[in-house]
Amino acid sequence: MTLTEKILARAAGKRQVQAGDNIWVNADVLMTHDVCGPGTIGVFKREFGAQAKVWDPERIVIIPDHYIFTADSKSNRNVDILRDFVREQGIAHFYDVIDSPNGTWKFDAAKGQFVRQYGSHYAGVCHSALPQKGHTRPGEVLFGTDSHTCTAGAFNQFATGIGNTDAGFVMGTGKLLIKVPETMHFRLEGRLRPGVMSKDIILHIIGEIGFDGATYRAMQFDGPGAASLSMDDRMTIANMAIEAGGKNGIFEFDAKTEEYVNYRTRLNGTRGAYEPVAPDPDQKFMTEHVVDLDRLEPLVACHPDPGQRKTARELEQLKLDRAYIGSCTGGKTSDFIEFARIVRGRRVAIDTFGVPATPEIARDLQTTYWGAKTIWQVLVDAGVQMTENAGCAACLGGPVDTFGRMNTPLKCISATNRNFPGRMGHKESQVFLASPATVAASALAGKVADPRDYIN
Ligand code: SF4
Repeated sequence: MTLTEKILARAAGKRQVQAGDNIWVNADVLMTHDVCGPGTIGVFKREFGAQAKVWDPERIVIIPDHYIFTADSKSNRNVDILRDFVREQGIAHFYDVIDSPNGTWKFDAAKGQFVRQYGSHYAGVCHSALPQKGHTRPGEVLFGTDSHTCTAGAFNQFATGIGNTDAGFVMGTGKLLIKVPETMHFRLEGRLRPGVMSKDIILHIIGEIGFDGATYRAMQFDGPGAASLSMDDRMTIANMAIEAGGKNGIFEFDAKTEEYVNYRTRLNGTRGAYEPVAPDPDQKFMTEHVVDLDRLEPLVACHPDPGQRKTARELEQLKLDRAYIGSCTGGKTSDFIEFARIVRGRRVAIDTFGVPATPEIARDLQTTYWGAKTIWQVLVDAGVQMTENAGCAACLGGPVDTFGRMNTPLKCISATNRNFPGRMGHKESQVFLASPATVAASALAGKVADPRDYIN
């Protein structure tokens, strides 16, 4: 069996499963956030009754992160709906925006978008917060009401996005009926060269197979190139499995996975026991692909879908209005570090917005010094508009006052993951997806640029 089949077989209590089987699997964790959480709660209450109790309050993780730093009152109220439900159900893991369990959330527009407005529990973007807070464990099943739940496949987990109806069912029963996906195999050879990042790996793969090339399939990544990648890099790749239509993306378990997960579960006092899955020698794949990392170049996925791959060199004359670094794909500490290496001592030529995915990442950037300056200062000095309000921000547009949102038909190069029409705001705006390094070089040039021209 493939890694995905092995996890699903175990979660279904079966010795063997194969692609196409319909099986009931037990969930280890259900995650929801402020956009889908209220809807999921509504389904749960409608189907199980107003007085019903969730299947396991220890296994539900609720992370407000999407429409948080906005004066839109309905968005603010969504966070309050989550808090009321958490209190009612005794849910253990809720990363509230405010500290008071009986309070209400209201964004203070007068304070502006740059200054931190969250309390001590807030955790930022759910897919980055889940591993940081110790909720991703190898060999487990994670369902989340968000398509990029597949990010946790970096940790040898079966992790997939589900809709509110399914999530309401999982909330009540802890189970879900799943069709076992076929598995596509991506063997990564070699090592990335300077200026090329893991984002380029996944943009290359999606460019090869198309934005629907993995529809309802597992994407399994392994080989020496995969082993050479950091956990942040693996997250970037697994995160974008859904941009090829994938059911999930998954990596093998190794010492890097173990170190990360053990540290994070200990740090946060979350469940530390887990059982990874290892590849079977006779695992069968529906397709085989080899990606030579040494040969990859900095890439850009052009408007209007993540499969529209071109090299940054080919697009060098394409003028841009805006650059954006952030999100569960490109808003990690390591992403900002690569970005900062390129803009250090230089000045961006276009509006450039920086949104750390989590408060911990914002803290990393504000407390790590390069000489006399923190990385945060390096970014601000280069003209990057950095907000302390970690979250999804403009990655998916959001209410009109969202930080970095495109309210006019602009062209933006972005370290995010999705570029369908209207994704970051105005329906006629255009989003060009690239690595943090390519976004940084392009921000300096005011047009698409190859980051290798900016590194020594
Ligand atoms: S950062 Fe973007 S892709 Fe990630 S969860 Fe938020 S909206 Fe979705």
